[in-house]
Amino acid sequence: MKVLDVQNLSVQYHTGQGHRQALDEVSFSVEKGGIAGIVGESGSGKSTAMLAVMGLLAENADVTADAIAVCGQQVVPGRDIAMVLQDSLSCLNPTVKIGRQITETIRAHKNCTRQEARERAEELLDLVGIRNPAQRMRQYPFELSGGMRQRTAIAIALACEPKLIIADEPTTALDAAVQAQIILLLRRIVQDTGTSLLVVSHDMGVIAALCSRVYVMQSGRIIEQGTAEEIFYSPQQEYTKKLLRDARGIQRLRTGEKDSEVLLRLEHVTKVFDTKEGIRDISLEIRKGEIYALAGESGSGKTTLARILTGLLKPDSGRISYKGETLDAGTQAGIRQGKIQMVFQDPYGSLNPCLTAGQALSEALKALSGTQGGMTPRERRRKAEEMLCMVGLSAEDADRYPEEFSGGERQRIGIARALISEPELLICDEALSALDAATRSQILELLLSIQKKRKIACLFISHDLALIRKISSRISVLYQGRLAETGDTREVCSDPWHPYTKLLLNAAPQPDLLKARRTRPVLPAETGQEKGSRGCPFAEACGYTMKCCYNEVPGSYSFGSRKTACFLYSEEHTGKRAEGYQMTSQI
Ligand code: SF4
Repeated sequence: MKVLDVQNLSVQYHTGQGHRQALDEVSFSVEKGGIAGIVGESGSGKSTAMLAVMGLLAENADVTADAIAVCGQQVVPGRDIAMVLQDSLSCLNPTVKIGRQITETIRAHKNCTRQEARERAEELLDLVGIRNPAQRMRQYPFELSGGMRQRTAIAIALACEPKLIIADEPTTALDAAVQAQIILLLRRIVQDTGTSLLVVSHDMGVIAALCSRVYVMQSGRIIEQGTAEEIFYSPQQEYTKKLLRDARGIQRLRTGEKDSEVLLRLEHVTKVFDTKEGIRDISLEIRKGEIYALAGESGSGKTTLARILTGLLKPDSGRISYKGETLDAGTQAGIRQGKIQMVFQDPYGSLNPCLTAGQALSEALKALSGTQGGMTPRERRRKAEEMLCMVGLSAEDADRYPEEFSGGERQRIGIARALISEPELLICDEALSALDAATRSQILELLLSIQKKRKIACLFISHDLALIRKISSRISVLYQGRLAETGDTREVCSDPWHPYTKLLLNAAPQPDLLKARRTRPVLPAETGQEKGSRGCPFAEACGYTMKCCYNEVPGSYSFGSRKTACFLYSEEHTGKRAEGYQMTSQI
């Protein structure tokens, strides 16, 4: 029986510049207790179709359809269908405790007392894997981790006892370990409650892990549909093949180039906030021209480290040196301004909407001291046009505003702005995370070719291990603000030593049906020691704990270029080792 049945849905937008056809006779359905997926690149019309089903499109949208029905009846949004969105922070009310947000939703749909609603809310939080629900209900959304917020959003969706949940890019903003938890949770909810699920995603790995039926969407039309096996094993359309190629292409291992000169060195850098979050005792070095990756889940301290490197935060202790010169208050501004630049995750948020692309680039040049800062406006404009051409845009694009560009084009402007000062180190903080697979591949190729041509070192901060494997030569894995493992990317990814690295690598969704459906070990919902407490931060989730793991923080044990912070590799545990002893994974 079909829970959702959409037939020949078309959407046309009326704008000041004329009409734009966003959807063209799109049909799809979801069976009772089934999971269907709609996959396509950004701009393909996936979200427009979902909003049309929910009746949430803007007034200038003209919607026509032969049928949009739930169990044969006209849809009543909010009762029949609930939605879980990518950005759980923006869909939860930041000023209201999560308990109240869930109980209000329950009472809006069910005639019950406050006490009954509270009890049901606790049950729902328990169902979505949140421990101590009564205590969590007294917290605000910002007090929860990204994964916990997504679980709360799923609990709210379940509170209206919908027949169907639409999950729009439900794991895109999450790191691999949390992503795997949410995928397992969604599968379990469908099994246990019989609710049907429609997943909208650009990620073939997520679609492979969840869906039994798949619709492929391009330019507002469904161009191919079939069972997951048909789509993954014998795709017919060139576009579907390309989506699979793009997704699989990222799985290939590739090592970058190394250079021996150390550009940036961090020694025992610590920065702890009142919330006990932050980074502790970080030591690493980035060499000239290499791509160095920093991996870890959200909240592990990756962005704190990037902000320290760009001078936006001051460390509490430790030393940072650039080409051997200590970066302190006196020297850091000058060196960082030109030589260390950053590309951000959200290209729209990081560009001033009132400045054209050309003006944004000229402003970046103007802010520089030294020779380039002394350029005339005409020279700056010429340089800005040159940079836009280098990142694959045109000189004419200099007169366009950010809103006139697509997400991928805006990221190109972000890269051009970072490169205009000819930096030696580029910090890319989740710079590709917000882009779909095809755009991500293009921007990645661009970054790699520029990096190689100009021999720029790159600190690539990401939760996406597939990407990190492809591009970086060395990697550091962060867990709760401490370095878990550091080494050659190829070695770490093919033979991880630290229990957390093993888990993280296992968790990454693969665009392969067999691998994606295998039950993989994932982190429990709430893991880790309380931040700042004694002992190894991974002790609560680790399957190899020893007594010492609860009482002491493990030191960093070095073996050649490889380092790992785990007692399994300590001399006390492995015994006295002969000189030249080759350490291998202890588990
Ligand atoms: Fe696990 Fe102990 Fe190693 Fe931490 S130090 S990762 S708890 S074995």
